[in-house]
Amino acid sequence: MLEEALAEPSAQPGRECVLCPPLRFRINAMAGLPGDPSVLARDRDFLLMPDVAPLADGHVLLVTREHHQCAGDFDARLWGRALRWRDRVSRLYRYAYGTGELLLFEHGPALSQGGGACIDHAHWHFLPGTPGVRDVVEECGLPGTPAEFAALRARFRTGRSYLLVEERGTATVHPGDGVRGQFLRWAVTAALGSAEPWRWQETFGLPGSRRCFLRTLRTLRRAAAALDGPPPCEHR
Ligand SMILES: [Zn+2]
Ligand SMILES: [Zn+2]
Repeated sequence: MLEEALAEPSAQPGRECVLCPPLRFRINAMAGLPGDPSVLARDRDFLLMPDVAPLADGHVLLVTREHHQCAGDFDARLWGRALRWRDRVSRLYRYAYGTGELLLFEHGPALSQGGGACIDHAHWHFLPGTPGVRDVVEECGLPGTPAEFAALRARFRTGRSYLLVEERGTATVHPGDGVRGQFLRWAVTAALGSAEPWRWQETFGLPGSRRCFLRTLRTLRRAAAALDGPPPCEHR
């Protein structure tokens, strides 16, 4: 069952998607990590939670509650909400790590597992700091253009995968067709000068990875409590 889940981490909307209920926290459970209690913040559209195989401290995912293939599949309202979440993550990072600088990346698949995607359900990766991922991507012969919402949407609608990178306050979209699986996770490890494996399947559940997940959760939970106050009581 483990192999089956890892070989097909994506699949269709609904039952088989590991970022949709009921499987949403199955990977966490496999790694002995908290599932729903690891959600740092949520609203009607998004969940913010640590990546199960963090590339660095502070690595979190912004995940849509409904199934969308990628952000190119968002409508204008959801895109606007996602950008507000980006700003919120920046505030959390400033409190937790002393810098509001962040890296945002997304592998936007036009096809299942296209565009170097790790999971075919819209999610933005965030890491504190700006390791220089755009430079690594461009050195691989994948030039960027300004990543307005319309640009992502046009790519998605015409069946082209994309790589979205926001770093140093500038967002660029790069061609994503034909790149290796989890290409952007690889680009981050290259930019960080890390010798760690980048594929999430290789690190999730290992002691170092679990410690990093739990440290990220503790640190950002404290930041969220300080900035946002305690979560509202749902029983009132
Ligand atoms: Zn899904
Ligand atoms: Zn991913």
